[in-house]
Amino acid sequence: MREGARSIRKRSGYHPRAVSRSRIGSEIRGNLHAETIIVGGGVIGCAIACELATRGHDVLLVERSRIAGGTSCAAAGMLAADSERFTHAVMARLAKESRELLHKQKERISSLSGVEMGLQQYGFITPFRSYSEVSNYKNNRSSNSSDEPFWWDRVSVQQEASWLNRDIYGAYYRPSESEILPVNLTQAYVRAAQAMGARVMEGVQDVRLHIDVNGVQGIRTSIGTMTSKNVIVATGLQGEELMRHAGLILPVLPVKGEIAAVHFSPRHIGYRPDKTVYADDIYIVPKANGEVWLGATSLPGRTDTKVSVQGIQKLFTAATSWVPGMKEAHFLRAWAGVRPSTPDGLPYIGACESIPGLFTAFGHYRNGILLSAITGSLMADIIYGKTSEALGIQDLSPDRMNRKEILQ
Ligand SMILES: Cc1cc2nc3c(=O)[nH]c(=O)nc-3n(C[C@H](O)[C@H](O)[C@H](O)COP(=O)(O)OP(=O)(O)OC[C@H]3O[C@@H](n4cnc5c(N)ncnc54)[C@H](O)[C@@H]3O)c2cc1C
Repeated sequence: MREGARSIRKRSGYHPRAVSRSRIGSEIRGNLHAETIIVGGGVIGCAIACELATRGHDVLLVERSRIAGGTSCAAAGMLAADSERFTHAVMARLAKESRELLHKQKERISSLSGVEMGLQQYGFITPFRSYSEVSNYKNNRSSNSSDEPFWWDRVSVQQEASWLNRDIYGAYYRPSESEILPVNLTQAYVRAAQAMGARVMEGVQDVRLHIDVNGVQGIRTSIGTMTSKNVIVATGLQGEELMRHAGLILPVLPVKGEIAAVHFSPRHIGYRPDKTVYADDIYIVPKANGEVWLGATSLPGRTDTKVSVQGIQKLFTAATSWVPGMKEAHFLRAWAGVRPSTPDGLPYIGACESIPGLFTAFGHYRNGILLSAITGSLMADIIYGKTSEALGIQDLSPDRMNRKEILQ
């Protein structure tokens, strides 16, 4: 067996139709075929696998390293459908639909997968220090946003969130906002997909698209060729790289982010936020595993995952200014990841018209966890023949970039 190449079954022992070890050798013996191959085992690829498998589709997911080993393991896991500033109406709509869908799917996916996703709905607080901060905030909100948050004045803030700084002028509270454990969610999707018959291969190197004049034929990898009718590229940050093999330019712009995790001892539990703080300079997210995550820095153009003292210092300065009791927390760890952004801020979701059978689902920037459920559903609809126009997502079409290039 090629080093690093293994089926997920080996690790979890819970995968009825995972690819058996005998099929992953130094070469694949015989032809490995699936109706649809998904390349990339992040939250997006796994959500699509789960949705397709739910519809009884024959799916093979291929990951070059390990499931949830990319950007998905770095996220804070906020499902900030109302709090985010979406500049495009379609994204505002999809964000809300996705959050709802995740809540609806939760029980089913958890019971199929045996994974607890840590989905919590305690709402998000956006605090302000002065009236002018509130009016700036209102002016900057996009007209695409249809949310109507509750306004808490200084007294209400103290009653509802006594752990916040007493100097706070007021805050918006959005009760529908939720958050989740991102790695658990990704694992839950993939294991549920496997429970429904999807096959998953990790550690498969050198994946290349296999395309001829008739369109996509599958993929070529270091362990052999795998054939399929459809290939969905869900490789996040590496989406651009893989699509270049198909002669399509879909730029992905990296934006690094750092996060720190802390813990409050029972003695200081009164200082622990019990709702997410979603401020301009920081978010503070109480997680289902008892930790509190502080995020995140934003460093465009950076692809490394080193954590800088400067970054963490910035997070702690902002965190203690909103939640003074944060000083009593214990530092646990810090990490960094790289968000896959795009030039127009929209993900590439849809079919590549010039290459029959080729589809993309990447470029979800800072909302891939939130948008995972709806992306799974949309991609499954597209594989089953619905058009982007019918789904109202033509603006997300991967062809938009290449059309622009031709026009320029
Ligand atoms: C600091 C930080 C905080 C964030 N917070 C949030 C948040 O609160 N809420 C939210 O919704 N989103 C958040 N995000 C964004 C979210 O993490 C991403 O949008 C999401 O994880 C992207 O998922 P993905 O599946 O597209 O990419 P990835 O998770 O990167 O998955 C892609 C996978 O493809 C694999 N791959 C790449 N190339 C190949 C190849 N050639 N062959 C086979 N496999 C390949 C990779 O190994 C990887 O596993 C945050 C991101 C960061 C960095």
